[in-house]
Amino acid sequence: MLEAKIDTHTHTIASIHAYSTLLENINVAQKKGLTGLAVTDHAPGLGVGETFPKSYFGNMRKAIPEIVNGIRIIKGVEANIMDYDGNLDLPTSTFQKLDLVIASCHEKVVKPASVEEHNQIWENIAKNPWVDIIGHSGNGHYDFSHEKIIKLFKEYDKIVEINSSSFPHRKNARKNCYDIALLCKKYGVKITISSDAHFATDIGNFAESFNMLKEIDFPEELIVNRNLETLIEALPKLEK
Ligand SMILES: [Zn+2]
Ligand SMILES: [Zn+2]
Repeated sequence: MLEAKIDTHTHTIASIHAYSTLLENINVAQKKGLTGLAVTDHAPGLGVGETFPKSYFGNMRKAIPEIVNGIRIIKGVEANIMDYDGNLDLPTSTFQKLDLVIASCHEKVVKPASVEEHNQIWENIAKNPWVDIIGHSGNGHYDFSHEKIIKLFKEYDKIVEINSSSFPHRKNARKNCYDIALLCKKYGVKITISSDAHFATDIGNFAESFNMLKEIDFPEELIVNRNLETLIEALPKLEK
């Protein structure tokens, strides 16, 4: 049975366009039997009024306990890819203070362009040592050469996100995620399943992703967020 005990991509009111507090998210995680929760609000590149300033991210490890209500809290960020060179919107000094970095393309920040430009983004992100997870990889606004780039993610040991909220919301996400997951299976690339919740009740909602992964008989050992041990194995910096 496919399982994921940690939600690796969730938002709080610090993302402004999300509607629950961290503690509300934690309480839902607890009710659903999760053992870990990554808080990954949007970094400031999304624009004024869309997120809190960078000091919010720098203070998380100091302010938030490691375990709350039995849930391991992973302090992360969803960084914005700012341009086709794959530059991100937080300095290294902030990434150093975090447990987990997701890098994502958002239409508001980096305009969808050609496959070549999207390939260039992911080639540079693959080489960025601060990036752990490739955010909503299946977003059809940013088509890329799947086989070529997935092989690169393998080479640079990146974790590809299968984002459950993408299926209803992002262009061609189901078809793309299916194709990407098949290639991850073929090349042995690690994946994580996330809710990308913007409201507490969505925490741990992985059903859409699991249905798709079952269809392709995806190997469970490549799912890094099965439990805390497997996540720490994939992201040794989580170990305290
Ligand atoms: Zn996003
Ligand atoms: Zn998100």
